[in-house]
Amino acid sequence: MLNVRTPTALETAHAQFDETAARLGLDEAARDLLRNPLREYQFAIPIQMDDGSSRVFRGARVQHSDARGPAKGGIRFHPNATIDDVRALAMWMTWKCAIADLPLGGAKGWVQCDPRMLSPREQERVCRGWVRQLARNVGPLTDVPAPDMMTSGRHMVWMLDELEAITGQKLPGFITGKPVDMGGSPGRTEATGFGAAFVLREALAGLGIAPDASTASIQGFGNVAQYAARQYTAMGGRVVAIACWSQRDQRAYTFVCEDGIDPDALARITDPFGTIDAAGAAALGYEKLPGTAWLEQPVDILIPAALEGQITTANTNRVHGRVKVVIEAANGPTTPDAERVLLDRGILVVPDVLANSGGVTVSYFEQVQSNTNFYWTRDEVIAKLDARMTAAFHAVRQATAAEDLSMRQKAYMIAVDRVVRACRQRGWV
Ligand code: GLU
Repeated sequence: MLNVRTPTALETAHAQFDETAARLGLDEAARDLLRNPLREYQFAIPIQMDDGSSRVFRGARVQHSDARGPAKGGIRFHPNATIDDVRALAMWMTWKCAIADLPLGGAKGWVQCDPRMLSPREQERVCRGWVRQLARNVGPLTDVPAPDMMTSGRHMVWMLDELEAITGQKLPGFITGKPVDMGGSPGRTEATGFGAAFVLREALAGLGIAPDASTASIQGFGNVAQYAARQYTAMGGRVVAIACWSQRDQRAYTFVCEDGIDPDALARITDPFGTIDAAGAAALGYEKLPGTAWLEQPVDILIPAALEGQITTANTNRVHGRVKVVIEAANGPTTPDAERVLLDRGILVVPDVLANSGGVTVSYFEQVQSNTNFYWTRDEVIAKLDARMTAAFHAVRQATAAEDLSMRQKAYMIAVDRVVRACRQRGWV
């Protein structure tokens, strides 16, 4: 077989945008504006390590668009990402906020570091250093960050505290994903995973599959995957396989249990970065297979909830014939060519910009609550999340059936069109 290189996240984002731009008949200026970031910042973050030595980390914030409102998107700590990945992720945030119909633009932040190798104090210095470099360019009315891969509520609090120290103001609406007792929204931690499970519920209903007669295999066991697994299990579904990265062994494993994995028991033996303790999993009676095995399971549902570029034309032939739906809980997990193969096989692919928009949707709720200093209950938040996810899913799904488009193609058409309209009304293009 020909060894085809997996496209980068940015190549994928560009291919998806170009296809949509052609379908919408966008002119040159609109394409030029939206194919590239509006602004980007790249900088050094020098910090002192606990042992007294100094180290310099690279940081970035890419603001892809603020045509519909303040730029919005998480900050990723990752040693192996590239600035092009951040550009792609920022662009996906713009489409995600637009498809969820939030009055927000899209952005993404990054620090090239591995927080697993840093002490909490060192992580705090990295967070504060990131804000110091950007204090003039972010804020509740301009650009609102949030957690992403390997960052969480405690990182958000350090960042908030630094901006408040610099500005001398209380600005809880500057950042979302804060802990609930620090101005965060109830339900934000669960939001991305729950949102993915809500669209999965709607997808299964449309396919005539009862959740309690279905099985799923998940890649990843970070925040998103854990809550997707919990909510899907609560719906009666059975998660039979979960893959995760082992930092110690520098490789991935898949843990399998035909009777259904207990997400709570598994979460108890998982570190904050989503690595499952293999000995603990063995004690639970789960079988350990290679990291790629999650893709080959005879299940109805695949939920990639880890990194970009995981389902490619090099492995689509390993996707089991029983699979009927792929829920993209991660950002950009399926390459465009691989998606075509899945669609040709009659598999429903619920795209990332829709499937994982629950996180930013509750971030928006958090922003509203923080800015007004008035907080809702968890039940209110989850009910509002469910209503929005369900409505967004059906708006896209109905149109796809009528127009013979994939869910991604339709979601992109709606999202890009909304952003272009905002740009036009502002007189930008
Ligand atoms: N990092 C999440 C995402 O990729 C959430 C972003 C946010 O809440 O702003 O959608």
